[in-house]
Amino acid sequence: RRSAKCVLQALERAEATVLEHADELGRIDAVAGDGDHGIGMQRGVVAAVAKAREILALDGGAGTLLRCAADAWADKAGGTSGALWGVALTALGTTLGDRLDPDADLVAEGIRKASEGIMHFGKAQPGDKTMVDVLVPFSLALCEAAQRGLELGEAWSVAARVAEEAAAATAELRPRIGRARPLAEKSLGTPDAGAVSLSLIISAIEPVLL
Ligand code: ADP
Ligand code: MG
Ligand code: MG
Repeated sequence: RRSAKCVLQALERAEATVLEHADELGRIDAVAGDGDHGIGMQRGVVAAVAKAREILALDGGAGTLLRCAADAWADKAGGTSGALWGVALTALGTTLGDRLDPDADLVAEGIRKASEGIMHFGKAQPGDKTMVDVLVPFSLALCEAAQRGLELGEAWSVAARVAEEAAAATAELRPRIGRARPLAEKSLGTPDAGAVSLSLIISAIEPVLL
């Protein structure tokens, strides 16, 4: 079950980067939000990895693993971002299914579905200063790279650079949704916490796909 193992490895890389940056993510969220983004992401991703290990031991495929990990993440993380990560990973897992070796086109399609799911569920648009400001350009770059015929790892790398730039660029935005909205002016000059964590995770996963 190569792709299921790959998904577990990706979640483990996500866990490592979230643990490494948890304090920093909390500080960023505290500038205009409530400061719990680091701890929430940590609780979510740790639960997701534990569940993914369980499912892999039962010989579950990639899609099953992602959908079960998504439920564990949303359940344990709490907060807005936890629910949205649950939505995103469910959409990705549903698109990938339990196929053995998803290609760049299918993964790009899964990320597009994840992006649509988050926007549908959270109602944020690009420019509102949320994780959507990373997810939308990342998804577009990944789809475009896949269409150009790049392999999954190369396509992901190209799109990961776009995600990093997009996360940094959220510093110039004023929040128009979520807990940071009342303190919008204070957040100018600081990037959005959920955008930064998403970009960190996208980059951390790169070596697994290359
Ligand atoms: P909470 O805001 O409930 O404390 P977190 O601190 O874990 O949850 O997550 C905050 C992040 O969630 C924000 O930085 C933003 O990226 C993201 N976010 C908040 N609301 C929305 C929304 N409606 N749509 C998309 N992303 C959102
Ligand atoms: Mg918060
Ligand atoms: Mg909170």
